[in-house]
Amino acid sequence: MTIQLSVKPIKQWSFYKERPLMICGPCSAETEDQLMETARQLAKTGKVDIFRAGIWKPRTRPDAFEGVGKEGLKWLRSVKREIGLPTATEVANANHVNEALKFGVDVLWIGARTSANPFAMQEIADALQGVETTVLIKNPVNPDLELWIGAIERINRAGVTQIGAVHRGFSAYERTTYRNQPKWQLPIELRRALPEIPLMCDPSHIGGARRFIYEISQKAMDLNYDGLMIESHCDPSKALSDKNQQVTPNDLMELLSRLILRQPVSNDNRFLDVLNELRSQIDIYDDQLLDLLEQRMSVADTIGSYKKANNITILQSSRWEEIIQKATVKGASKGLSEEFIQLLFKAVHQESINHQNKIMNS
Ligand code: PEP
Ligand code: MN
Repeated sequence: MTIQLSVKPIKQWSFYKERPLMICGPCSAETEDQLMETARQLAKTGKVDIFRAGIWKPRTRPDAFEGVGKEGLKWLRSVKREIGLPTATEVANANHVNEALKFGVDVLWIGARTSANPFAMQEIADALQGVETTVLIKNPVNPDLELWIGAIERINRAGVTQIGAVHRGFSAYERTTYRNQPKWQLPIELRRALPEIPLMCDPSHIGGARRFIYEISQKAMDLNYDGLMIESHCDPSKALSDKNQQVTPNDLMELLSRLILRQPVSNDNRFLDVLNELRSQIDIYDDQLLDLLEQRMSVADTIGSYKKANNITILQSSRWEEIIQKATVKGASKGLSEEFIQLLFKAVHQESINHQNKIMNS
């Protein structure tokens, strides 16, 4: 499937100075002082291209802080006028779009709960018809590439060409290290489907904690993302939303100074860039392989305890025959040689037996 988009390259956006485009600011606008102070400190770093702040906050539970609403748009306008930073806020319906545009907000972003909803996306697209602005579309909360692409298409068809995608991770029922699972293969697939779309990473919402922001940002840079959206608050301990993942402007500076940016400067380096990007993809898949193996072995451990309790032997040849047969056939259909499948599965099986052995004799 080829998807026709009309997209303005990010290097032609007026906000863009160099990679990465930096979109920073608090999760939420809370008070005028908090907003102005954070913006002042961020502007001083000289590294921030766009100032973000949520005015209307989509909160899971009704009693959480739901944003200051329209009032905050005046403060954002002051940030723009007095500090000179272009501004960005989240919109989730036509009314938000109209209000934000009225107050001169430069960039509208669509949150993960909204991009998952085609009705809301269409309503926003209709409100944007014929408007010249910049729209960033976060991935939907669920890992559905088509839904993300569909949201981007709707906005683009309204005539918005200054458009970008923001990778903020995917929610999962299981407890994971990060707040949201990055599932890096999804944004990689998005770029395969829409090579022209500028791609940003939001390490704050992926990680959910300050200590993860650097490593996620570095990975995004190694995958050649165009920009980063990072939550920054002048006093994170007092933040009314997403307290644990916001960094002070100073910490943001420190983190950015450690980021390694691999830029193409000559033909040779261009080659190395592509190579690094591909290798980063390999690293991601290898990590996934290890995670899967860990999960497989933990099931083997459970089976070990179960067999022990029921006095059953570890090795059951018929079961092993069945596994290796199925894997050989399936592997062949995926272009994997019989020799490789045999080696791989024998090694995995052996490790599984070792695990069970340990359990049964413990
Ligand atoms: C946010 O950026 O503060 C936000 C609510 O993001 P998301 O839609 O990614 O949860
Ligand atoms: Mn947030």
